[in-house]
Amino acid sequence: MAGQTIEFPKSQKMPGLDRDGNIIQWHGSNIDMDDRKRAEEQFETIPSMLWSASPTGEITHLNQRVLEYSGLSYQDFLSLGWKCFIHPDDFEDTVKAFFWAIKTGEPYSATHRLRRRDGEYRWHHASGEPLRDSDGRIIQWYGLSVDIDERKRAEDHLRDTRIKLAKASRLAAVAELAASIAHELNQPLTSILGNAQAARRWLNASTPNITEANKSIERIIRDARAADETMQYIRALFKQEPVLKKETSILDMLKEAVRLVQEDPNKPEIQIDWPFDLPKIPVDHIPIQEVFINLISNAIEALENYPIPPLIKVRAAVTDQNEVVIQVIDNGPGVNDPEKIFDAFVTTKEKGMGIGLAVSRSIVEAHGGRLWAENCPDGGAKFNVALPLSPVNGNPNRNRGKASTSETSGSNVARRSNVRDSG
Ligand code: ADP
Repeated sequence: MAGQTIEFPKSQKMPGLDRDGNIIQWHGSNIDMDDRKRAEEQFETIPSMLWSASPTGEITHLNQRVLEYSGLSYQDFLSLGWKCFIHPDDFEDTVKAFFWAIKTGEPYSATHRLRRRDGEYRWHHASGEPLRDSDGRIIQWYGLSVDIDERKRAEDHLRDTRIKLAKASRLAAVAELAASIAHELNQPLTSILGNAQAARRWLNASTPNITEANKSIERIIRDARAADETMQYIRALFKQEPVLKKETSILDMLKEAVRLVQEDPNKPEIQIDWPFDLPKIPVDHIPIQEVFINLISNAIEALENYPIPPLIKVRAAVTDQNEVVIQVIDNGPGVNDPEKIFDAFVTTKEKGMGIGLAVSRSIVEAHGGRLWAENCPDGGAKFNVALPLSPVNGNPNRNRGKASTSETSGSNVARRSNVRDSG
């Protein structure tokens, strides 16, 4: 209570508390009363809640601020125990921390809510240090409780906000993904429907036009493949499928990739340039081919409506680092940020999903390889895929290419990976 004088009888007896804060026994103490009295007087001059306890943890003193804050008299405090003062949810941890300090002699520290006289709980940080005699024996514990309520609530609020934000951004990412998928699939599905209706009309005409019906069906197949490809990308993005490597002719694979994307005769010219004796490399054929299809399709898209004659080059060379480096080079506008474009959902295309490069990189990395982009000094983008040779092909002198890779030798890839100049 405010203004109350705390009595410390000379033959003082203090309560021993059990782990629930209940009094289990009373201890007598014979401490130099003058010293302690002086310390207790000093206590009152410090503007914080202070306490002291015996080496075995019995309270020996509480300063006026503790009594004012709790609204309890000293005797009430001792008889009611800490249980009525510390928030029930924080009590167990506090008792554990306190008795651990008493047992080990290590400093005591706890964060808990303490009940104010008006019933409101406020967060406090309590700390206690032992005072030792010259032999290192603990003679008294001194402790301090600091009101950290505002700081704690601000921190809690910040943490809650962060959690909410993280959840919201996850939801936003899912919503963005769902919208992208819907958008990406909508186009081929609409086209499939249109072509299916057209095919039916051609076939139901008084004179069925088989040629036109066939054309519509071809377009249906093309769009269904595009939709399927999208689904494959999405599956690859979310499902880490095991890589099933098989010795594969990289040359055949590149030729096939070029053929697949070049179905349309209006597509830009694609030059392929590689050494004749490019070795077989251990890859999972389908996903690696998807990578090249994606890189070449991106190059084609970058060149659409670009005001110079389009040219795409695909090159391959063996490096002296036991790798095959395949480059897809275009003469388009180049990339804005050669690293960011590999993040999922980064796209500059109206109908793009922005996952092709993210998936491609994860496929290449799953093969122990690397995929990176750079801008060509004369304009255009260059995408590099480095794939490790199988150990049997790993002899750097074995696969020296005979065909021209001279253009490659001056490139950044050459600087990065030491692409060997063939010839
Ligand atoms: P999407 O093709 O759906 O946009 P990608 O992950 O394949 O997704 O590509 C991400 C972005 O990288 C593209 O939107 C484009 O801005 C950029 N990009 C990729 N390839 C090239 C290229 N050859 N030239 C210029 N920009 C490119």
